[in-house]
Amino acid sequence: MTIKTPIPHSKPCLGKDDISAATDMIKKRMLSSGEEVQKFESEFAKYIDIKYSSAVNSGTAALHLALLALNIKAGDEVIIPTFVCTALLNAVNYTGATPVIADVSPDDGNITLQDVKKKLTKKTKAVIVPHMFGSPADVKGIASLGVPVIEDCAQSIGAEQSNRKTGTMGQISIFSFYATKMMTTAEGGMVLSNDRKIIDKVNDLRSYDHRADYKVRFNYKMTDIAAAIGRCQLLKIESFIKSRRAIADYYRQKIESDKLIHLAEKAGTRHVFFRYVVRLNNMTAVKAVARFKSLGVNAELPLYLPIHRYLRLDRKNYSGAEKLYREAISLPIYPDLKKIEMKKVASSAKEIIIG
Ligand SMILES: *Cc1c(COP(=O)(O)O)cnc(C)c1O
Repeated sequence: MTIKTPIPHSKPCLGKDDISAATDMIKKRMLSSGEEVQKFESEFAKYIDIKYSSAVNSGTAALHLALLALNIKAGDEVIIPTFVCTALLNAVNYTGATPVIADVSPDDGNITLQDVKKKLTKKTKAVIVPHMFGSPADVKGIASLGVPVIEDCAQSIGAEQSNRKTGTMGQISIFSFYATKMMTTAEGGMVLSNDRKIIDKVNDLRSYDHRADYKVRFNYKMTDIAAAIGRCQLLKIESFIKSRRAIADYYRQKIESDKLIHLAEKAGTRHVFFRYVVRLNNMTAVKAVARFKSLGVNAELPLYLPIHRYLRLDRKNYSGAEKLYREAISLPIYPDLKKIEMKKVASSAKEIIIG
């Protein structure tokens, strides 16, 4: 058997079921937000084990509305980690609040309690805590500081800590169903909370029509077409996670060396391996990625650029993120990855890193 190269870094996992669910909606002329979205909202909330939910059209929209639901506005401060996509920085800036950037641990990519503590002021109104790469962050520790936590579960659908799913430990949680996330609706997102008032507010702000009063509102609605795909994907999420965990096991066993560190599952957690990340200690990540690509394997840096670099903050204050940025690479991982492709990734890693 031959394999098509390059092996993509990430890939949506869609079947005939997803395709017919979406086309059914089109045939029924169910195009915008209706019953299908409501069904997806309640099924997804049930899966995570949270009472109330509101579906939107992206993870970014979910973050924006979560911040507004906490009344965050100009003059407030919101702490976010540096090692994350700029969606978080954008969402904070949409509200006019001041983003405060915290460092992360090079061992899992997650925001550190220590740096959050340091950056806390009287103006801090929330901390956004992503569970990076699918590995649960210390939400409990951060929540114990007494500031509301928005859990960002865009990369961690199905991940668990002490047998509780990520998304159940903060005041609000947000999810993304972008094409290559844990599960997809093409583009899409969700806000969950056990606080009914928060979700009422999100529901009020996500669409503008049929309102008795006027205030600034948005058009962040999810479509029934997207929700139909999401419902199908949700039925498969546990099998997606099982596949990802099996690939992670394979990589950990086959790519063994003192020249690299696997960002592995932590005790007491269930990692869902949205990304499979290793840190290299004998070459830069940039160089390794180029060599993987020359062998037909699209390894990538796990992040385009840390936020403190965009904002030109002093790199000395972000030593965890700097280390991760210099040393970490992300290997192809997704439910559709074939055994022969996994072998090729592992043999390329051996050739490049271990030599
Ligand atoms: C993808 C992602 C987002 C943004 O989601 P979109 O649906 O692309 O807007 C936010 N936070 C994290 C951690 C992400 O990985």
